[in-house]
Amino acid sequence: MQHDHRFASRETRMKASEIRELLKLLDQPDIISFAGGIPDPALFPADAFRRAYADALTGAAAGAALQYSTSEGHAGLRDWIAGHMAELGVACAPDNIIITSGSQQALDYLGKLFLSPGDTALVGWPTYLGALQAFNACEPNFDRLEPMGNRAPEDFSARAREKGGTVKFAYVSPDFANPTGETLTRAERQRVLDLADALDIATIEDGAYQSLRYDGEAVPPILALEIAKKGDIDACRTIYCGTFSKTLSPGLRVGWVCAAKDIVSRLVILKQAGDLHSATINQAAMNAVTRETFDEQVATTRTVYRARRDRMLAALEREMPEGVTWTRPEGGMFVWLTLPAGMDGAALLARSLESARVAFVPGKAFFADGSGANTIRLSFSCASEATIDEGIRRLGGLIRTGA
Ligand code: PMP
Repeated sequence: MQHDHRFASRETRMKASEIRELLKLLDQPDIISFAGGIPDPALFPADAFRRAYADALTGAAAGAALQYSTSEGHAGLRDWIAGHMAELGVACAPDNIIITSGSQQALDYLGKLFLSPGDTALVGWPTYLGALQAFNACEPNFDRLEPMGNRAPEDFSARAREKGGTVKFAYVSPDFANPTGETLTRAERQRVLDLADALDIATIEDGAYQSLRYDGEAVPPILALEIAKKGDIDACRTIYCGTFSKTLSPGLRVGWVCAAKDIVSRLVILKQAGDLHSATINQAAMNAVTRETFDEQVATTRTVYRARRDRMLAALEREMPEGVTWTRPEGGMFVWLTLPAGMDGAALLARSLESARVAFVPGKAFFADGSGANTIRLSFSCASEATIDEGIRRLGGLIRTGA
């Protein structure tokens, strides 16, 4: 039976993620993959989780671990996260935290909370594809956020009005962004805040990679800068989304939002409607494991990824022909390449899978307007150093022959 004519209008905006589709092709053993932006599974603290799950399922704790729980999330874990946020300069209470099923769920709920069809979301050009997907379901328009750009706030409002809505939020991932690996300076964060204030809109701060800094000085989260100015998180408009996916485990789907209580209580209602609460036992296990090993785990992960990043940057320097440029990330998992003008990243991928057997993600999907055809994203998190050398050598050779 065909349902096409019965689907909601939002369905026409919903596309399968090119990356998820691509990941399905990557289990062939001879492919060198720089495609998936996923953590190296060899680094997951499996022993700590094994103990945590065993404890959670033993004796009196077992009933609670297997039971329904609150939509706000595990009290002990919210407490730990509030302490973690304070270390980043975000003074907050556990009541300012809601646990979500990964930060992706937070993006989904924040889209639902703010966007009516026709409203405008300000995003980077490029930006995280998963955010575009989450927001797309709410049928918004996207406008380009450039922290140091000189467009006047009124220009954003006027353009949003022309499209039949208003500007609702700016979405930004200030540390080692997916896909570019780039980090916003303090001045750039301040500009985002100033724009949000001028437009009277929220800032959604995606801190997914925040812990994965390999060199350079940490820059305070936008939320910390706003608290420094306004004195109290409950007076702030910035909404911080965090996750354990890049540090401890993405499979357990544990993330959080840290924001003014008014926002948290609205997200609690959305979560009640969405999935009631995140998996009780996963939160209990995450609470035990963060307390046991978060710092140590982050330190190990940084050491491993730093070496891979260095190796990839050195290989790019050696192997890439004239006309190719790339970012030099201070953390995270990604290097972003701009190919010579006219070279198409998707066509290059097709050729690469056929001959060089190197996978990566064409950059176009990360642009809300479908531009950026001559860009590609490379991830270094899952490849060994020797594989990085070989993969970049093959890719450089392929680019040299033109697409
Ligand atoms: N934000 C960014 C920038 C990401 O790269 C990702 C994962 N790819 C997410 C959010 C979502 O991660 P999770 O839902 O696993 O927390």
